[in-house]
Amino acid sequence: MPELPEVETIRRQLAKEIVGSRLRRVTVRFGKRLQPSADKFVAAVTGATVRGVRRRAKLLLLDLSNGQSIATHLKMTGKYLLVPGKTAPGKHAHVVFDLADGRRLFFEDVRKFGYLKVLPTAEADSLIVGGQLYGPEPLEKSFTPAVLAACLMRRPGRTLKPLLMDQACVAGVGNIYADESLWRARIRPGRRVKTLSADEIRRLHDGIVASMRRSVKLGGTSADDYVNLYGRKGRNQLVLEAYGRGGRPCSRCGGPIKRVRMGGRGTHFCPKCQK
Ligand SMILES: [Zn+2]
Repeated sequence: MPELPEVETIRRQLAKEIVGSRLRRVTVRFGKRLQPSADKFVAAVTGATVRGVRRRAKLLLLDLSNGQSIATHLKMTGKYLLVPGKTAPGKHAHVVFDLADGRRLFFEDVRKFGYLKVLPTAEADSLIVGGQLYGPEPLEKSFTPAVLAACLMRRPGRTLKPLLMDQACVAGVGNIYADESLWRARIRPGRRVKTLSADEIRRLHDGIVASMRRSVKLGGTSADDYVNLYGRKGRNQLVLEAYGRGGRPCSRCGGPIKRVRMGGRGTHFCPKCQK
């Protein structure tokens, strides 16, 4: 499932490629995940020009020239793919955007959990600024150890890994970056928040930021079926320390990485050097 670094990679590529492009024609081949409805979606976006591409947590926002924005959540397997004109859509291409310059943008989704929602840009702004759905952005300066500590301490009884994944204290962390951040911080995923020291929270903060930054630099993690706007894999899966490495040696201490189930998710940690 795409997390912050994967969505940020796609955002940067979309910003580079389609800002200034007009959506000449929009063809819906599977419309159940378009909001408020397929017809309204097509009517609201056809003919508009893309003015900017933003990201909030794992949500992509395409701001259009007509005061509307397209909010996209990729969920499990959603992807945007930019292809040359006349490329035939595959069976999982649910929406085809024909750009005025001839290129095509596909929205594909094998599992069909992703969605595209058209809404006034003013509402998209409040989604961004209000921060009601999501905690702070980990790659912004406002995300400090103190901000993280304050949010964690309001939830003393929570288990650390599921809390990191629920977006309240930091946006964009899913299963991969929760495991990676905790490995870097040398903290076990099952710890209760109230047992954390100030130093551990600082390490956790640094682990979140560092694991996200490195992945963005490497174009995201293609551990499952994630590919970027050009259909190519990222490279962060080549340097993972914990996620997906059950039974293999920890690069820090040499002990085997352990895989357990936690909250229904595969969870990876080093029992020797994560305390
Ligand atoms: Zn270790």
